[in-house]
Amino acid sequence: MPAGGTGTRMSSRTGGQLPKQFLLLNGIPILARSCLAFLEIEAVHALVVAAPADYYQQTQTILQQYLSHDQWAKIRLVHGGATRQDSVAAGLRALPDNVELVLVHDAARPLIDQETIGRCILAAMQHGAAIAAVPVHDTLKLSDGKNCVLRTVDREGLWRAQTPQAARRDLLDRAFAEALQKNISLTDEAALLEAMDIPVHLVEGSARNLKITLPEDLRLASALLEEESSMNIGHGFDAHRLVESRKLILGGVEIKHPKGLDGHSDADVVTHALCDALLGALAEGDIGRHFPDTDPQYRGINSLLLLEHVYQKVREKGLHLHNADVSILCQAPKLAPHIPAMRANLARACATGPERINIKASTTEKMGYIGREEGIACHAVVLLR
Ligand code: MG
Repeated sequence: MPAGGTGTRMSSRTGGQLPKQFLLLNGIPILARSCLAFLEIEAVHALVVAAPADYYQQTQTILQQYLSHDQWAKIRLVHGGATRQDSVAAGLRALPDNVELVLVHDAARPLIDQETIGRCILAAMQHGAAIAAVPVHDTLKLSDGKNCVLRTVDREGLWRAQTPQAARRDLLDRAFAEALQKNISLTDEAALLEAMDIPVHLVEGSARNLKITLPEDLRLASALLEEESSMNIGHGFDAHRLVESRKLILGGVEIKHPKGLDGHSDADVVTHALCDALLGALAEGDIGRHFPDTDPQYRGINSLLLLEHVYQKVREKGLHLHNADVSILCQAPKLAPHIPAMRANLARACATGPERINIKASTTEKMGYIGREEGIACHAVVLLR
């Protein structure tokens, strides 16, 4: 995956300095979305990402942040070259030995779908080389170079090239070696193969597999994702008993109080309720299933670590936290002064900003177990997108 474009057409119009592959597309960087599309495919053994030299570190940080541990383990990050061809050549050199078939995909096409990738793999296995493309529907005009139509071009048989471009590794290695030797530079891998008379099979791409070049492409991609995106809602509830000689920890904040909450971990009801809400939205049961209180490794554990672990599961499903609303039921102590620190802790564990997490606290007017200060409870509701 060449991710070497500096995106000058994008940044000159948005005033941004960031290469386009780092821009967020509905909460997830474009590059991470492109990688995830391939990493979800079982046949993909390894993914080599050719990062722009100036952004090598940033590329690594983003991928580690948005991919699971297992997904990151499949990534090989290399320094990209000055051109796409140089970057792909660097990528080919970094491939593991046992790879037989190679797909090259633009990092700037994050909406690539599994069906198109599958068609490219099958066609390349069968024919040696394949490229995703879509037939041209617009009428084409050839200009005389002075903004005047020279003639109308027959669009019959014309296709717009997309990626992935797929080929048997030996063919691609040969094409790159030959290009280097003859000093040929072409805009894509298929063109190199064509130049060597290796037939490249056309497979149907997808209209939504657009290349993000201009700010309006980003808006279009965002709208397409919005239309297809699922919304998952989850609710969590937790309550713990107040006892002597325990620290009171709520939302990762240690609060001075004569009593603390009893439990196997740090008994942070706020963080637990949020974990359960996230797991609920994923239909993944509850916190007890993932971190059993019979397991000694969770004894006294900082619950924010559990939350980070749960949030990793959210990411692995390609989702992110849209917002959370948390209600703490507590007669004493007063929690208002601690809420900003709690929001910051929970937001950090969910890799988001505190503005997406609301926390409020209420007493029960001295009614019931909360009112008698026997315990503290918490409800949380989340929306994942
Ligand atoms: Mg609990």
